[in-house]
Amino acid sequence: MRPLAALGAALLLAACAGQAVRPLGATPAAPDAAAAGAPAAVDSRVVFPTSVPQGALVVGKVPPGSTVSVGQRALRVTGYGTAVFGVGRDERGPLQVDVRLPDGATQRHGIAVTPRDWPVEQVRGVPPATVKPPPAIAERIRREQALVTAARERDDARTDFAQPFAWPVEGRVSGRFGNQRVYNGEPGAAHSGMDIAAPGGTPVRAPAAGAVTFAAPDLYLTGGTVLLDHGHGVSSNFLHLSRLDVAVGDRVEQGQVIGAVGATGRATGPHLHWGMNWFDVRIDPLLVLERTP
Ligand SMILES: [Zn+2]
Repeated sequence: MRPLAALGAALLLAACAGQAVRPLGATPAAPDAAAAGAPAAVDSRVVFPTSVPQGALVVGKVPPGSTVSVGQRALRVTGYGTAVFGVGRDERGPLQVDVRLPDGATQRHGIAVTPRDWPVEQVRGVPPATVKPPPAIAERIRREQALVTAARERDDARTDFAQPFAWPVEGRVSGRFGNQRVYNGEPGAAHSGMDIAAPGGTPVRAPAAGAVTFAAPDLYLTGGTVLLDHGHGVSSNFLHLSRLDVAVGDRVEQGQVIGAVGATGRATGPHLHWGMNWFDVRIDPLLVLERTP
């Protein structure tokens, strides 16, 4: 089913090679350290993959108490030494991860970003007003999107992102992350998430635990909309819901029903749109699903 499986598997291998196979304190056979030109006395407990696909969620390992930044952005590090960040759809890399260990020593790790193909996808039969909205509607869309964007900026210490993710509904993938979309012949933005075909009313379950940071029954473009924050800037959004079973502030466990599949907002039929973000960076839920064992 998955042309992307190879990418996900590669990411998983890269992550596992360091975390599971290389023992603590082993001599640095670490290809990531070599690629980054790190010093010979590399601390082997620092583990990041050497390459990641566009749209990936990257989870690295550092000694607890280290500070980590990617590019100019400082990452929150868990008490057990995990740091997470997302790689955008159009990111070309290489990414540069800087680690300052508790003893003050610094390391730099380079991560290559492997490009992906982004097919053009024709979406027909969309209500014209949602493709070229009149000014009043455009203003409403801006206002609503600003609320969602603000909710995504939350930087919470919870570590729900670290658990293996599960499918929120079962069904065929009817739209992939990143595809270049053309609505009724008009080029639109790239598809920001993954669509899963399912009958209206199908329960939508939390793919991982989280806190509900946004819930609205009727946004113009996205209809019934729920945002679930998994900690460290990682969040999920569920769109076009016919029903919401959660409210802002709710703590949700993995598998808990948060709403039901619908066709509200700009949708041509019932399906679940599941998007994921690392702050403002959109990432591919399919890679997150495949990252986990
Ligand atoms: Zn979608």
